[in-house]
Amino acid sequence: MGRIAASKQPPPKVQTPTAKAVDRSTIPAMSELWQHGRETQLSAPAILQAQHLQGNRFVVQRLFESLRQSGHNLSLAQRVAFDDIVGNPTAEPTPGTTIHPTVRQGSRGPAVEELQQKLNADGATPPLVADGIFGPLTRVAVVAFQRKYDLSPDGIVGPLTWGKIDELGLASDVGRVEREWTEEVGGQIYGMTSRYTWRILDDEIRVTVKLRFTGVENPGAIANCFEAIHRIWNCFKAVNTTTGQEYRIVFEAQQVTSGEDNVVELHSGNDRSDAANWFIGDPDLGNTAAHEFGHMVGLEDEYQRTHTDYQRLVGEEPPTGQQATAESAPPAQVATELHDALRLPVEAARVTAARQVITAHGLRQGEYAQEIATAYQTAHGTGLVQDIVDHIPDDDEWSIVNPFTYSSGSLMGSGINHDHPVEPRHVREFVGYLQTARPGVYNVEPI
Ligand SMILES: [Zn+2]
Repeated sequence: MGRIAASKQPPPKVQTPTAKAVDRSTIPAMSELWQHGRETQLSAPAILQAQHLQGNRFVVQRLFESLRQSGHNLSLAQRVAFDDIVGNPTAEPTPGTTIHPTVRQGSRGPAVEELQQKLNADGATPPLVADGIFGPLTRVAVVAFQRKYDLSPDGIVGPLTWGKIDELGLASDVGRVEREWTEEVGGQIYGMTSRYTWRILDDEIRVTVKLRFTGVENPGAIANCFEAIHRIWNCFKAVNTTTGQEYRIVFEAQQVTSGEDNVVELHSGNDRSDAANWFIGDPDLGNTAAHEFGHMVGLEDEYQRTHTDYQRLVGEEPPTGQQATAESAPPAQVATELHDALRLPVEAARVTAARQVITAHGLRQGEYAQEIATAYQTAHGTGLVQDIVDHIPDDDEWSIVNPFTYSSGSLMGSGINHDHPVEPRHVREFVGYLQTARPGVYNVEPI
């Protein structure tokens, strides 16, 4: 079949683990990382704050970055293995808080406007004009804020100063998010930086992503993509449960020629799309663009996930899916058949043989496939998904990994096509900004 539609979904593959077998004895202990974090730019309160807001995985990644910068040479595989030891990310990001870009004198834009409003909310005197221009008066207010809260009074608003602003819960009507993230899908690591601006208006919260297009010129395709993004995403409102006041949750993709949040290259023909590459020959391009837009506003894929990741992303247990029946082969037997297939000397023969096992036993996502994966781990001492990734060529991985993972039935979770809806959980983060700016309890309801 040449091309697998579902493999179009992942954002740009940043790096895949190369060293599959990790010597865990070389992985630093958490206490060592913690100590290192304290000695470097990551203060203990910042680490705690980040753990609270972003979860352990984020903190571990930051600490590893910090270790690397000071000359420790750690492979991605070691980092992934460490994540595995520490446990998967647990802390839900607190609504209304996230990662802010660093701003300083001379910076302009919504992050500065957000900062000015939030400094005013903390009693900046004289109050700043929230014009989005970081001039001398804003710098004076920042230094005063930093002195007030025992931060280094350098006038630069980086993670620690933003962390204090978030911790204080200061409100603004506008905000800027620039968040780097990674995910593990089907045993591979993907990642990107999501960038967007949010703004609260009279009766809506508007989330804007600015896109600059390169490659093939095709205004019609761009218009179709934007129509699909807006139709698919703009279907919820936040309703204040006390006052009944309603705010539409509006997502807006904007085409720009400079000052973009993301660059998208348009290609002719049809191939694997990701957040940075769209194919105008894709008959499902509108839905694909809507899925990739989800990544641009910070959402992860909800397909081919581990049990733990599925729970974290969806907030509930995965569906039971396919269960063993009286006719089902014993899981250990299927595991052995898969192991034999993956050990054939010729790659193409492995693909054919593994597909035959999946077809012969009618394997689909669910309990039975998980029992097979467990039996595989027990019998062969290695994860089935990892073994597939290690022994099957990239282009064929998707269909063979798929039965042994979990996917949700949402726009971010479809493994086959993209014509699934946005779920209320996908807009919760944005309602969080509303909750901070206009305190109250909000329900997410369809428009
Ligand atoms: Zn995706």
